[in-house]
Amino acid sequence: MSGTHPNARPRARLDAAEAGARRTRRRAAIGVLLLAAATVGCAPARRPARPAADARPAPVPALYDTQRRIADYIDSGRYDAEVARVVAQAAAWLDRRAPEVRKPAIVLDIDETALSNWRAYRVNGWARITNGPCDVERGPCGIHAWQAMAGGVAIAPTLRLVERARVLGVAVFFLTGRPTEVREVTERNLREQGFDWDRVIMLPSDRRFRSGVDFKAPERKRLVDAGYTIVLSLGDQQSDLDGGHAERTFKLPNPVYYLP
Ligand SMILES: [Mg+2]
Repeated sequence: MSGTHPNARPRARLDAAEAGARRTRRRAAIGVLLLAAATVGCAPARRPARPAADARPAPVPALYDTQRRIADYIDSGRYDAEVARVVAQAAAWLDRRAPEVRKPAIVLDIDETALSNWRAYRVNGWARITNGPCDVERGPCGIHAWQAMAGGVAIAPTLRLVERARVLGVAVFFLTGRPTEVREVTERNLREQGFDWDRVIMLPSDRRFRSGVDFKAPERKRLVDAGYTIVLSLGDQQSDLDGGHAERTFKLPNPVYYLP
């Protein structure tokens, strides 16, 4: 059983007084110690080590240097050569595999796989500006507005791959993250650039996906379930290709942007 002692309040005051005195003595002692440390320059073990020359943080790339490197990679022809190299591998696989399988098909991404949009990115200093109008002469150029202008240019090796597929009787499916709202203009752009296809599969405007994989892999599965053998999938983003339902995947370079 507990109760309040009649002397509790005076005792509490006494305790408080003693505690205050103890705090004062402790602060004084700490002050003396700090003063002593400052005076004699003690505690060398705790002195921060001087950073070694090779421990400096990595320099942040300068924006203009990065822009120049991208332009140089594309303008020098190295980008085109890398695209041609990858698509040649895809074409060799297509030639070998298409006659061997039932209902052969290829699946291709559109942007930076079948159609090049570098003109729109270049005027933005290679930035990916999604919204807003597109002034493709002076910039800025919003990519959605650019897509609505049907200004994409055929990536020649991909166009030849599609033509080869048609000759071999291989079904061609474009599978793109572009929304269905731009179907008419996208198909017009593809047609004007010489492409032929069986179907353009576009992102439903009422659905959201965390990754391109979550949209594209199930769409490929749907084609497989319909009896197609997808002998290859071609894209400029890893998310175009991951998730299975294609015999082989071929990844094109994209030095400008990344899509999850
Ligand atoms: Mg793409």
